[in-house]
Amino acid sequence: MCGSDLWPYRGTDPVDEPRPMGHEYVGVVEEVGSDVTTVTPGQFVVGSFFASDNTCEICQAGYQSRCPRGESATPTGAQAEYARIPLADGTLVATPGMPADDLIPSLLAASDVLGTGWFAAVAAEARPGKTVAVVGDGAVGLLGVLAAKQLGAEKIVIFSRNESRQRLAQEFGATDVITERGDEGVARIKELSGGMGAHSVIEAVGTQESMMQAIRATRPGGHVGYVGVSHDVALPGEELFYSGVHLHGGPAPVRRFLPELIDLIWNRTIDSGKVFDLELPLDEAAEGYRAMDERRAIKTLLRP
Ligand SMILES: [Zn+2]
Repeated sequence: MCGSDLWPYRGTDPVDEPRPMGHEYVGVVEEVGSDVTTVTPGQFVVGSFFASDNTCEICQAGYQSRCPRGESATPTGAQAEYARIPLADGTLVATPGMPADDLIPSLLAASDVLGTGWFAAVAAEARPGKTVAVVGDGAVGLLGVLAAKQLGAEKIVIFSRNESRQRLAQEFGATDVITERGDEGVARIKELSGGMGAHSVIEAVGTQESMMQAIRATRPGGHVGYVGVSHDVALPGEELFYSGVHLHGGPAPVRRFLPELIDLIWNRTIDSGKVFDLELPLDEAAEGYRAMDERRAIKTLLRP
């Protein structure tokens, strides 16, 4: 279950009729269509939430989530016993073998939240010597911390008021926690960075407040990687003009990173599955939504 599943759950995104839910998945291939050549029944696969051919110019440039042939990877929903995945050759990546059971949560995280946090960190140009700030302490923000750590960032600052999320952020590599938000939070990140602001800021919420906090927390010349699904965000042109920051983001091209992420998980270098703090059988999905809505759970894993 994804934080973005809560937008329709809460009615922020209107829902007029029943619809399949879920876009994060791993599983065993049962059947393939006649055009599929690289994926075979019996393989364990991880896929992105967005189907892509992985061959066109946009995909080859690493922007599979904007593939012109692309579509939702889970038109039949992923919170289900079975799912049909379009463009399987371009969308799915097989693991080296059948994974150990304890690797499955981490591989499942790669399907969206890890890949999205990773893209945000790359878009924000997290790297050695950099101070990276993360706006948003949901699963994507927390895995943005993990990604920044893997990419070698020197200082990683998470904005969070929730103790269990702060602890997980620290396990993933956060060096500092800021509990203030908005302009007070911006003032605190400036204090931590010689008055200049962070080099790199990951925005993983998608609201007006979080986006402005991210832009204002970034030093001139710095980079914002924004991956929170934008809800009514309107950027003030003049402030943006004088900020001198780079903005890059959007729906994460998770497929670009899947081979590398699967490798890091397979070798037990990263343990992205720690973001799941609630596991339920599929028929108790409703409780999973309630727990995430009430922030009792960071992220729910459903087993069919
Ligand atoms: Zn493409």
